[in-house]
Amino acid sequence: MTVQQPIQEPSFRESVDLMFNRAVALMDLSPGLEEKIRVCNATYTVRFGVRLRGAIHTFTGYRSVHSEHMEPVKGGIRYAMAVNQDEVEALAALMTYKCALVDAPFGGSKGGLRINPADWEEHELELITRRFAYELIKRDLINPAQNVPAPDMGTGEREMAWIADQYKRMNTTDINGAACVTGKPTNAGGIAGRVEATGRGVQYALREFFRYPEDVAKAHLSGKLEGKHIIVQGLGNVGYHAAKFLCEEDGAKIIGIIERDGALYNENGLDVEAVRAWIVKHGGVTGYPDAEHRVAGAELLEAECDILIPAALEGVINLGNADRIKAPLIIEAANGPVTAGADAILREKGCVIIPDMYANAGGVTVSYFEWVKNLSHIRFGRMQRRQEESRHQLVVDELERLSADKHLGWTISPGFKEKYLRGADEIELVRSGLDDTMRAAYQAMRAVWYERDDVDDLRTAAYLVSIRKVADSYRAKGL
Ligand code: GLU
Repeated sequence: MTVQQPIQEPSFRESVDLMFNRAVALMDLSPGLEEKIRVCNATYTVRFGVRLRGAIHTFTGYRSVHSEHMEPVKGGIRYAMAVNQDEVEALAALMTYKCALVDAPFGGSKGGLRINPADWEEHELELITRRFAYELIKRDLINPAQNVPAPDMGTGEREMAWIADQYKRMNTTDINGAACVTGKPTNAGGIAGRVEATGRGVQYALREFFRYPEDVAKAHLSGKLEGKHIIVQGLGNVGYHAAKFLCEEDGAKIIGIIERDGALYNENGLDVEAVRAWIVKHGGVTGYPDAEHRVAGAELLEAECDILIPAALEGVINLGNADRIKAPLIIEAANGPVTAGADAILREKGCVIIPDMYANAGGVTVSYFEWVKNLSHIRFGRMQRRQEESRHQLVVDELERLSADKHLGWTISPGFKEKYLRGADEIELVRSGLDDTMRAAYQAMRAVWYERDDVDDLRTAAYLVSIRKVADSYRAKGL
């Protein structure tokens, strides 16, 4: 899908800077500290050659470090042809604010490789990934204590496993080697629930938003999440999981799905699993039977719905279409889907935007849990689970004894015993930690949104909360 970007639109990094500047103008930071936080500390560009198909192919990759107020720095590695320095720097800056907002103890970083993964076979991608990782590892741009990558667009568990293995080959005695990258498969040091984490975070963010009727009213909506009409752009890892959970667990209706080759629309709701299976099999949404197919997919961003979830690329809502967007609530599952100019237009129209640095922070939050798991060398719940179960057994035994007493007339509800007896396993602990994180971060943003007369949107509130934390840690370091 191509999006027409008007010429006067600033670049992605400038757009992030504009949003930062808007927020920082409301703070009392010294201009020096303000500048220190805004700028990207360093961006490393590497060009390396790999011999493939009988010829040497040169690839260009980046790893940008935005802020080292906390280390390691954290952020994904993206594989896409559109990767460039400006984009990587914008994404690294967003990582700084994102980590601060959700209290993940990291600075911000991001990486990218200019490549179309679909052009290469799996074994070729492995060679390319290992070579890219080698270049970054030898400069400590991948290191458990300094810089910890993760998946992003075009990468996943497979690439993370190669990177971790490459690091271990080059650092054979580093006992914490597995913590050099997150998003690994569970059989290679990963954590349960990392793949679904960003989509799950979007679901938890919306659930939290709908717990506050006054916030819902600000978006000119009412009632619960149940039954709300949703349009999702991008059915990749994030969009797919968010859509699936919102539909299956919260009773929302996915009425539109926008993909590269057009969009699907069905006002009675689309079957997310079936659409995903169709895309996997046919490479796109074209031909999917149970919906109306629209060739000009991006136009569906402008359709009537309750909630719009851009979960694909940056800049898709821009000066060219912002005034035609009808959704009263947008949740930014992607990084930077709304440009600074579009943000101003939408705010003016009264649209509520749940900003990227909060909305898609579920990924890095669970990455944080994975990193901690790797450093502690033990699975979450391993020590407590059975002990918790045996203590619960005591309560169940006692309740059973009491309910056997006919004079009391007590009975235990069906299913109670099984549910209460089961100690939490890793996935439950991860989800609980993620839910708690998403709630706490929303509440921190919301407090600023309501308390300050000069803040009328959640994005500015999010920036205020996170910039304050980054500034505090720079000050604590004596800067
Ligand atoms: N790439 C993801 C993001 O943009 C995850 C980063 C991470 O887990 O470190 O937030």
